[in-house]
Amino acid sequence: MKNKILLSPPHMSGAELTYIQQAFEANWVAPKGAQIDDFEQELAACLTTLNKVVALNSGTSAIHLALLLLGIKKEDRVLCQSFTFAATVNPVGYLGATPVFVDSETDTWNVCPMLLEEAIQDQISKGNKPKAMIVVHGYGMPCKIHEILEIGLTYNIPIVEDAASALGSSVDNQKCGTFGEFGVVSFNGNKIITTSGGGALLCKDAATKQKAVYLATQARDNKPHYQHSEIGYNYRMSNIIAGIGRGQLEVLDERVAARRSNFEFYKNSFKGISTLEFLEAPTGYYANRWLTCITTPSYEIREQLRLALEKENIEARPLWKPMHQQPIFEKYPSYINGVSDDLFERGLCLPSGSNLSEADLQRVCACVKKNV
Ligand SMILES: *Cc1c(COP(=O)(O)O)cnc(C)c1O
Repeated sequence: MKNKILLSPPHMSGAELTYIQQAFEANWVAPKGAQIDDFEQELAACLTTLNKVVALNSGTSAIHLALLLLGIKKEDRVLCQSFTFAATVNPVGYLGATPVFVDSETDTWNVCPMLLEEAIQDQISKGNKPKAMIVVHGYGMPCKIHEILEIGLTYNIPIVEDAASALGSSVDNQKCGTFGEFGVVSFNGNKIITTSGGGALLCKDAATKQKAVYLATQARDNKPHYQHSEIGYNYRMSNIIAGIGRGQLEVLDERVAARRSNFEFYKNSFKGISTLEFLEAPTGYYANRWLTCITTPSYEIREQLRLALEKENIEARPLWKPMHQQPIFEKYPSYINGVSDDLFERGLCLPSGSNLSEADLQRVCACVKKNV
């Protein structure tokens, strides 16, 4: 059997060990210490933002904290991009709030601004004005963030930007994750850089960051004994994990370049196959190409291709099953135009790791060409 080609495996730089060593030498192996402080500053620098970074144990925790800080409560409505990974929406469920799903557009595969506005107007007319919206830069392709910010301003609805898979992506040279009231990134094992598991919340100011850190460390009052006036969470990143993050941040630009070059390789290789399509970036949009995604002519061809790749020990995965189709979420309100249903049927993510060899890429391409 040929070696397994994974969809998006970790890719360490080597520098991580130096920072882990520093954490051990200082005996700061808890969720506190210099690696965390430095990691937060270096991440802010890499996003060229004055927004404040809070290092956390996952992107999901970051979304949960963003919703808590926005005061989302039971029965509140939160607009969510339907075409995403469940982690975008699960925190809405943690709070007992109601997600309202909005479908995508074909330019970016992310939330359709027109449909978003329709959804807001319809919800308002029913007396259910949404309290927040979560938009996603899916697969590293930025959403129509300028249009969405306009809508947020018009209706006074704050935006949580799920940039979990979009570290290094930007729109008109502004980095994804820095536009919304809150931004979220993830360092999960399959992301463009990884800390093994982790995430970060981006806040607009130091006071909000302080509140986020307080909630993320069990909501302790300022007393010598343990005293709590609010429910807290154990969401902070550990100092060791932050060390891994520092080593990974050093190579982020290289990782983005490698993923983008995978995308170009596939595109060139499939030039003659008019039935396979790629998502092109709109003008001014810079995608990190976390995963290279293609669409095939039909569900049947997609499945034929996916199974052929599987047989060759190559991991490929259908595009996200939209949230409005998920058994756990299908009972919630949704505004659907068919775009994400179609992507789910015909779309496939190809192996996209920054450590893929040219031989690996050739192997994937040969198998694809034989089976479409
Ligand atoms: C990975 C991912 C998350 C969750 O991040 P974790 O760090 O795994 O909790 C959320 N949203 C999207 C779009 C993701 O890709």
